[in-house]
Amino acid sequence: MRTIIFLLLVILAFLVIRFTLNRVIAIRKKNQELDSPGLVNVQKNLVTCVVCGLNLPEEEAIIETLNGDEFAFCCAKHQQDFHKSAIKVQ
Ligand SMILES: [Zn+2]
Repeated sequence: MRTIIFLLLVILAFLVIRFTLNRVIAIRKKNQELDSPGLVNVQKNLVTCVVCGLNLPEEEAIIETLNGDEFAFCCAKHQQDFHKSAIKVQ
């Protein structure tokens, strides 16, 4: 009889530990999901400078539409360089 009670206690303790661990994992996942949307948005809005290939947020970049195509530049100088090289090519 003692053995059965002991076994039941062990099983109960195991279940309590498992439940607690699952709760901790669920809470951690929830926190990560709350943290990640900001990161995902930042990565979504990254654009690449057509001159030097630098990745930067869209709101910091200079976006120019030429012949229906959008070009992103990291700075005004690279925008000028792009126009200079475009004129040379033509
Ligand atoms: Zn650049």
